[in-house]
Amino acid sequence: MSMNNTNMLRDELREKAEANLSITQTEALNFSADAVQKLVHEFQVYQIELEMQNEQLRAAQLQLQVSRDRYQTLYDCAPIGFLTLNKEGNITDANLAACALLTYSKSELYGKKYLKYVYSEDQDRFYLFFQQLLKFTGKKTIEIRVKRDDESFISVLCQGYYYYEGHAQRDNNEFFLTLQDVTEQKRAEQKIQQLNEQLTHEVSEQNIQLFRKNKQLLDNIKEINLSKAELLEREAKLNSVFSAAVEGIITIDEAGIIQSVNSAVINIFGYSLDELIGHNVNKLMPTPYKERHGCYLTNYLSDHQDKIVGSIRELEGQHKKGNIIPIDLSLSKYKVGEKSYFTGMMRDISERKHKELLDKQHLDELAHVTRLGLMGEMASGIAHEVNQPLTAIATYSQVCQRLLESDPPDLIKLQEILQKTEQQSLRAGQVISRMREFISSNTIHRSTVDINELVQDAISLANDDCQQFSIQCRVELTKSLPFISADAVQIEQVILNLIKNSIDALTKIAQETPRNLTIQTYLLGSKSIELRVKDNGLGIDETEKARVFTPFFTTKVSGMGMGLSICQSLIVAHGGELRFKSCVGKGSTFYFTLPIIGQHNETQ
Ligand code: ADP
Repeated sequence: MSMNNTNMLRDELREKAEANLSITQTEALNFSADAVQKLVHEFQVYQIELEMQNEQLRAAQLQLQVSRDRYQTLYDCAPIGFLTLNKEGNITDANLAACALLTYSKSELYGKKYLKYVYSEDQDRFYLFFQQLLKFTGKKTIEIRVKRDDESFISVLCQGYYYYEGHAQRDNNEFFLTLQDVTEQKRAEQKIQQLNEQLTHEVSEQNIQLFRKNKQLLDNIKEINLSKAELLEREAKLNSVFSAAVEGIITIDEAGIIQSVNSAVINIFGYSLDELIGHNVNKLMPTPYKERHGCYLTNYLSDHQDKIVGSIRELEGQHKKGNIIPIDLSLSKYKVGEKSYFTGMMRDISERKHKELLDKQHLDELAHVTRLGLMGEMASGIAHEVNQPLTAIATYSQVCQRLLESDPPDLIKLQEILQKTEQQSLRAGQVISRMREFISSNTIHRSTVDINELVQDAISLANDDCQQFSIQCRVELTKSLPFISADAVQIEQVILNLIKNSIDALTKIAQETPRNLTIQTYLLGSKSIELRVKDNGLGIDETEKARVFTPFFTTKVSGMGMGLSICQSLIVAHGGELRFKSCVGKGSTFYFTLPIIGQHNETQ
């Protein structure tokens, strides 16, 4: 405040004071000296008091000035923009931060409408905001975008409040706006929102995947439970198969120690369960296998040779009582972790062996019969062979006689002829001894025979061939046929021969065509039974039909051509007949009759 102003203010105050003074100058002249003295003193004190008050006021004014400057500095340096608006919304003050935000100087901003700097799309909202500021007290906040000098926009958080002094009219007062640049914050928020969305998306994706995996796991668990149930069922089944199996099943470890056995093993070897479990398997073997088994196992495990595993071998076991038991053994191997175990399946083949022995004896007998039959058929040929040396011997003897009768006898010629005679007799002897060898000592017996039993026996001998060549063999036997009186071995030989011929004929037809062989027995009238062997094989050619019973007639590469002629001889010898019907491409039926007991007409 200048000196002049101060003086003027003082004069003005004096005038006002004089006007307010209750006593006039004239009235004051009438005061007594004491009263004047007292008044002067009063004035002096009052003046000093006023000067002191004046001094205090000046100090306060100075302090106010300092505070105002500090406030201005703070106002300008504040990081937040401050704007002061009048009720029309014109800018009346702005701090430096507000200028920096809006990119205009204070002078450029003063007097301008703030709305001018608000982004057009946000202007309506700001207008409403400002109207509310005008009507209500208290702070209000709005986020808007503001335009800058370079036409760019920034997001700003505006907080406005209405300022008024004491009871002053609202219309005359000012409104303050703080401006805070929230562009970065908005960007960060957007980024955070994006990240949030991304995160939400990823989380939901992961949730879906987790859900799927969870479902998969549940399915797996379900499957495992099912498999477990199946396994338990299978184990129960296997256990029942294991216990009920006819074959002996035995499990051993790498050292040959028995881990498990089923009841068949106990039956085969005669040991109890306790005598087997935990004992070495060589207990079940006879010498020398018993001693060698440990080495076999060690060699097997070190060589990793699988040749004994998987194949069926015929071996000997030893019963608890010491007797040897022929067995068929097949081995398999399995591993649990690092340990190997072996499972042996065995079958007691004592009965089979015994049957094989019987069959062999039976076949030997049949072969013998064949030889006998052959002998019969070949007798004429053999007789012819013997006849030749005999004729020669007779001729040589006559020559010798003549030579002896001559004089002198030609001894050299005689010796030569005698040598030839000897050779011929030796030859005849050889033929005869061959015959004797051939016939050997077997004799033929007739007995009461059930033809159906002979058929069954013959079929069992031909069964392997039928299986090998996929031949369907049907047996249609008439039950309770009367017995026949026959040499069972010979008649079985006939049946077998007819079956074998049919099998030969069937193997020559195409493999796709079903191969059928049928054996039937009938009662023929009241005197005979008939047996038929029927096939759908190659059949017999018209030209061959007349020759099939002729000795040595054969159409087979390794055939002898004696079978049918022997069969015919045997059947005729039993009082029956052997015949056949055949059609090329359709098959043949060979059939024979035999008289039933009591009707037999002995022809032998
Ligand atoms: P082999 O069997 O040694 O040939 P066989 O005397 O038993 O001697 O048979 C003579 C021939 O009769 C056979 O080679 C075959 O040509 C014919 N034959 C016999 N049985 C049949 C049959 N069921 N079907 C077709 N041909 C047959």
